[in-house]
Amino acid sequence: MLFNYYGVIMRKVYLDHAATTPVDAEVLEAMIPFFSKKFGNASSLHSWGREAKQALEESRQKVADLINSDANEIVFTGGGTESDNLAIKGIAFKHGKGHIITSKIEHPAALETCKYLEKKGFKISYLPVDKYGLIDIENLEGEIREDTILISIMHANNEIGTIEPIEEIGKIAKKHGIIFHTDAVQSIGKIDIDVKKLNVDLLSISSHKIYGPKGVGALYVRRGTKLEPILHGGGHEQGMRSSTENIAGIVGFAKACELAKKRLKEDSAKMRRLRDKIIKSVLEIEEAYLTGHPEKRLPNNASFYFKGIEGESLVLMLDAKGIAASTGSACSSKKLQASHVLLAIGIKPEDAHGSLRLTLGRENDEDDIDYLLEVLPGVIHKLREISPMWKA
Ligand code: PLP
Repeated sequence: MLFNYYGVIMRKVYLDHAATTPVDAEVLEAMIPFFSKKFGNASSLHSWGREAKQALEESRQKVADLINSDANEIVFTGGGTESDNLAIKGIAFKHGKGHIITSKIEHPAALETCKYLEKKGFKISYLPVDKYGLIDIENLEGEIREDTILISIMHANNEIGTIEPIEEIGKIAKKHGIIFHTDAVQSIGKIDIDVKKLNVDLLSISSHKIYGPKGVGALYVRRGTKLEPILHGGGHEQGMRSSTENIAGIVGFAKACELAKKRLKEDSAKMRRLRDKIIKSVLEIEEAYLTGHPEKRLPNNASFYFKGIEGESLVLMLDAKGIAASTGSACSSKKLQASHVLLAIGIKPEDAHGSLRLTLGRENDEDDIDYLLEVLPGVIHKLREISPMWKA
């Protein structure tokens, strides 16, 4: 419950699930014993250690079940960022040199890793996307060279929700014998993921986007794919990620995966219905535009831009009404920086500043959306009234 300035009770509506999700009650319950009673180190030989090891391996199986992989193809990490780093640097450093194909709209976890490798002498092709954020398959195939060692293209975009043609890209990668990585941090738990169908060798996922705890993730590594580790030490996780395993976090992540698998169909159908209701209604607002693909998009993502509006002000005004959302526009030191994703899909910088991302979750209901749709047009009208960028 939230009280506004006048002490009036306000509804609270969280519509920023692409940023993070609450930990599910069942997930929390599963984790608790592993902080106290079951605190063992999974590498220890005694019963405390064996108990932790058993929980670790059972968790590995649950994560594997969500993406149709084998348990020994799952490497636990400290989150999506680390999974992306391990996949991309791991392949790059294994080869020592070579060419990598990625896209202009990747999450910074992948994009900045590629930029880092570029400084180290690797050659990187950053593929453009169309106005919906989609990669052109022929263009991708045309970029493949003798020395291409990796293709890394995200499954679904975190800002605009567009779903890339991963299965087709995987077929091309396979045809040319190139390792293929996808960042599935946003798609996991929202759309069906089958690593065999998708033809991927490496796939990144993160726990805190699917109602698990923060700071835990996994990298799927297809059997036989050789990676150079980025963390050296005791040789945990088949030598690919040293460090004592975060058993409580991993158990929570695994429970979140189990719940996601069980609820995927039902959750996605509900979110898709609410998403479509938002899109239909928001597009009735003057000079409001959808970003991302109209159909090939995540069931929980409704993203827009509004002419004559500054996204950060919009997010703050919605927050004052109890609604959590996000924008691709960020104020860094003195200048406003427009999202690299929105610029890549051809939106003018001044329009990109007026972006709004609403991302649904399993706990949202019809009343939440009715409240949003009651509040949003008025907030936009108010902001435009004081905006020098708005026409009249
Ligand atoms: N990749 C994508 C597409 C994401 O949206 C995020 C987080 O927002 C990450 C990677 C990073 O994941 P984590 O927060 O677990 O490091």
